[in-house]
Amino acid sequence: MKEPRDAAPRIPDPAFRENEDKEEVTLRPRLLSEFVGQEKMKENLAVYIEAAKQRGEHLDHVFLSGPPGLGKTTLAAIVANELGVQFRATSAPALEKPGDLAAILTSIGERNIFFIDEIHRLKPVVEEMLYSAMEDFEIDVVIGAGPGARTIKIPLPPFTLVGATTKTGLVSGPLHSRFGIPLRLDFYDPADLRAIVFRSAGILGVHINDDAADLLSRCSRGTPRIANRILRRMRDFAQVWGNGTIDLPIVKRGFDSLEIDARGLDKVDREILRTLVEKYGGGPVGSETIAISIGEPVDTLEDVYEPYLIQIGFLKRTPRGRVATNGAWEHLGVRRTGSEDQPILF
Ligand code: ADP
Repeated sequence: MKEPRDAAPRIPDPAFRENEDKEEVTLRPRLLSEFVGQEKMKENLAVYIEAAKQRGEHLDHVFLSGPPGLGKTTLAAIVANELGVQFRATSAPALEKPGDLAAILTSIGERNIFFIDEIHRLKPVVEEMLYSAMEDFEIDVVIGAGPGARTIKIPLPPFTLVGATTKTGLVSGPLHSRFGIPLRLDFYDPADLRAIVFRSAGILGVHINDDAADLLSRCSRGTPRIANRILRRMRDFAQVWGNGTIDLPIVKRGFDSLEIDARGLDKVDREILRTLVEKYGGGPVGSETIAISIGEPVDTLEDVYEPYLIQIGFLKRTPRGRVATNGAWEHLGVRRTGSEDQPILF
């Protein structure tokens, strides 16, 4: 199966993406005070950080969950900054064998942050090594091979593991229970996204009008990464079509060009809903079937597209498959056959 992609599938050209990513880094908040929204979570985290600093101890391990683009990586780096320690990042698929993990763990300094993205994708043998590293700050390493092989215990300095995932359900119980600070990131409301858009516009040096920022933030799927990406495209449109200022007509025309509709849905979102509504009478339909018809891996469908469609009430996950709600039919302008609870089955 193809690797699941994160929230980047909408940008096909890798060279182009690389440039975008560099710019994305400049937009990344470095301090908790610059991190917009998620107030309750931020408040608690600030207390945990302050307490650990006062005690001169490592912070408890942190588990970050939520859809892509909501700020998990950003937050992990912020925690390191706020603690004044080093930040080391990797992704679970890069840890192919226990030795890969051991190499990182044995080079990590005291109280440093070790960030593992996509932690639900750890291999079982690697995950097992992580248990003793997290709990006892030591790992067992096998030296040599065959009958002469022996195991030695290597002590580690106390450190903080920050694990991030878009799929909490796939993280094993033993791993999950070793995180003392579980934090869940939710979609941002338009007011928070608006603040993010203005902050990013300031950093990019582009002027955006109030009403333009309102529309942009309402149509960014509750996701800062998408808001920033759309903002950069609008900057291009404003430069070429207008006088450089992002105003309402530019955003409206820009959304037309990007095929983003009034609810912030793009072509793929609408294709998902269309598949459900037009081909399957509203569902229920299995995720595999929908994934095939939109030409994306199931993981991408489940992690990138569905959470927002569920959040705005257009899609429901049921034990028998996905179901389109009345709102989805209305949005597509298709008259409903059957009812939401009693769809016509094929
Ligand atoms: P994730 O790791 O959850 O996929 P990231 O941490 O990579 O998400 O966030 C994507 C981008 O969105 C960041 O580069 C940052 O510019 C922006 N961002 C995310 N959360 C916030 C926030 N709360 N305030 C401001 N910008 C944010």
